[in-house]
Amino acid sequence: MIDLNYTWVDMECPSCGYQDEVQLVDVKTEKTVYCHNCKESIMLLDNEASVHHGIEAINSSINKLEKAFKIFGK
Ligand SMILES: [Zn+2]
Repeated sequence: MIDLNYTWVDMECPSCGYQDEVQLVDVKTEKTVYCHNCKESIMLLDNEASVHHGIEAINSSINKLEKAFKIFGK
């Protein structure tokens, strides 16, 4: 059994397009991360608690999550 909390997922900075990785646990806790390229604050939003739905839904969840990345404070 994979612990999804420590699965790395790709994310793309919504400001500059820089590719980075975050762990699902950070998305679940809606952590704020910083782009290593442009230093923008990015709030990770777990819309519809999509991370909690289990491994069979993981691919669609990640697609949703990618759309959910927003620039914090704008
Ligand atoms: Zn950036």
